[in-house]
Amino acid sequence: APRKLAAGNWKMNGTLASLAEIDALLADQPAPGCEVLICPPALLIHPLAQRAEGRILVGGQDCHPAASGAHTGDLAAEQLRDAGASHVILGHSERRADHGETSPQVAAKAEAAHRARLVAVICLGETEAQRDAGETLEIIAAQLRDSLPQGATAANTVIAYEPVWAIGTGRTPTNDQIAEVHALLREKLVAALADGAEMRLLYGGSVKPANAAEIFAIADVDGALVGGASLKAADFGPIVAAL
Ligand code: 13P
Repeated sequence: APRKLAAGNWKMNGTLASLAEIDALLADQPAPGCEVLICPPALLIHPLAQRAEGRILVGGQDCHPAASGAHTGDLAAEQLRDAGASHVILGHSERRADHGETSPQVAAKAEAAHRARLVAVICLGETEAQRDAGETLEIIAAQLRDSLPQGATAANTVIAYEPVWAIGTGRTPTNDQIAEVHALLREKLVAALADGAEMRLLYGGSVKPANAAEIFAIADVDGALVGGASLKAADFGPIVAAL
């Protein structure tokens, strides 16, 4: 089975002072039993990477498909790598919603991530309306097909299932609903890739210390992508410990 991954997405939260949480997390979890990744705002990637000294992996939250050029306000995968990142979150539902990102654009960004030797953490998830309409599996299959880049392997790509309606709401799918989507993702990845059985599948959406152990026990859940509960070591520490 793949090595478990506890990933924190700080979104647009945190300042230099928040790096104290990294010290607290390392003090709480000196030898975690899983990989630990924090994706802070891009301005904090370099100081966080310096602070973590490799004990915590650091990632971006988006990248541009191009390696450099006239793209005001954007960041290249190569620049994230240069600053100390090893991963980049791509296709988060907040970027799909706020910036109109499509799955083919996510695939292009993932190719850029691989070009820069970053692991792409590709996010997928249905809206509440899509779930209510019984379209979840169809939507997830289409997003996976269109977001997965050429050359994806278990080493360079992680998939995160994040139901849009579970993000920041305190609501989570039932264990059976999570298991159903992860089984579909596993089936599609095994069919598409030589090492699809080894690609890590994260669950994200209102993961907290109180529900982490239960979610991590579900088949084909290889870790979590955590938003709000990744901001404080007091919350993220117990989630890391549950893996
Ligand atoms: P919450 O954990 O705050 O629900 O956010 C999940 C998420 O979007 C992580 O990318």
